[in-house]
Amino acid sequence: MEKVRNKNFVDLTKNVCNFICSRILDLISVVLICFLILVLMGRATEVVARVGGIELDSLKYRGATLYWEAGNPMHNEKLEVFYTVIDSLTDNARKEYSLDENSIKFYYFTDKAWEYFTSDIDVEILAYQAGGEVFLGPESVNSDQIDSNNELAVTLIHEYVHAVQSSHQDYISYYARDVGWQGNEKPEEDENFYKVLSDYSLENPLEDMAETYGYSYLCGNNLEDLSEVRLQYINEFWSVPREEYCRDFH
Ligand SMILES: [Zn+2]
Repeated sequence: MEKVRNKNFVDLTKNVCNFICSRILDLISVVLICFLILVLMGRATEVVARVGGIELDSLKYRGATLYWEAGNPMHNEKLEVFYTVIDSLTDNARKEYSLDENSIKFYYFTDKAWEYFTSDIDVEILAYQAGGEVFLGPESVNSDQIDSNNELAVTLIHEYVHAVQSSHQDYISYYARDVGWQGNEKPEEDENFYKVLSDYSLENPLEDMAETYGYSYLCGNNLEDLSEVRLQYINEFWSVPREEYCRDFH
């Protein structure tokens, strides 16, 4: 009798286990199907918790994550520029400086959110970088300049280079020394030092490198005006010749 009771107990336990297991499997299937539906509908963006009362959506593309205010995505034309630059930084930059090794979060904000995020900064800025995060203001993405796609590409490379500087401090130190900076001071008698692509390069070593790399990404910019040392650094940053990595956007 005792034995029969035991057998019933074992059967009951087995049934309960089977029931629970099959419910768990059902639940997993439902979650997978929902996820698949969202992916197929192109809505696989991840909604991030509110930042300063601002709800963000995001997408991942290679080593980059792009965040934007829910309801205010980047225009498709600008998104294409973003993808192209990300491809270049992933496929054509030397491995240690590539996006594969330096993943970055990009934030694109429209006016209100930009005001919130830059309220502590005194000067008016178009974009900035902090560690592995790059913040793009409305003007840097939607400028009304004729060349605005090219400007966006330069800004993306510029801010990315700042992020690389923050994780490769030897790299920027060597660059500054080799280019001719004396700390943050400019040498007085060194003609080569002043051969740059933009005046803002002469602000300090960090901006020198970011501007030089940014503007040299555009095929249309002639690099003959650049000092030999800067040119060498650019050539070493990319793993392919300039004809292959440079781009033009219209
Ligand atoms: Zn800068």
